[in-house]
Amino acid sequence: MELFSEQVNRLVEELGRLPGIGSKSAQRLAYHIINMPADQVKSLSESIMTAKENVRYCKECYTLTDKEVCPICASQNRDKKTIMVVETPRDLAAYERTGKYTGVYHVLHGAISPKLGVSQDDIKLKELIVRLRGDVDELIVATNSGVEGEITAMYISKLVKPTGIKVSRIASGIPVGGDLECIDEVTLLRALEGRVDL
Ligand code: ZN
Repeated sequence: MELFSEQVNRLVEELGRLPGIGSKSAQRLAYHIINMPADQVKSLSESIMTAKENVRYCKECYTLTDKEVCPICASQNRDKKTIMVVETPRDLAAYERTGKYTGVYHVLHGAISPKLGVSQDDIKLKELIVRLRGDVDELIVATNSGVEGEITAMYISKLVKPTGIKVSRIASGIPVGGDLECIDEVTLLRALEGRVDL
């Protein structure tokens, strides 16, 4: 005899595909959802669908946005000649929270990782090269300080050197393997101000 209904099994299976959700958590979430009021469940599923349908990459910096160009790239007050390269939109958000960075960003959506089979073609590096053909003074590489982040930083430095554009790397002081988004704003600012040429 099936212990659970087919529909519950399917819900558990779908939830279990999400990152960080093991089978126990998936079951717990599934029961929770089933016990939620119908209008809350509707609102949850609608928000997922709406986000999926409307959120896209900014055509300039590739962060996630629901407009063609994100508010940072669209702003008149940002210095378009300084580009900070980050791994994820969450890293971008971490630097935005400092309120002190006035340049724009480029979101790679990952980092080169031979171990995980992520190559330079799997992240938004080609798109970065295209941007560098424009009027750019400095590229600040703010990838994370783990192995992947360092490999990516070196790769970018090699790519950019021949163009004559200044390339810098945010200072260490951020713990190795440290995730940018978990680091406080003071440390982030110090890393930015103490950046070194690559
Ligand atoms: Zn943008």
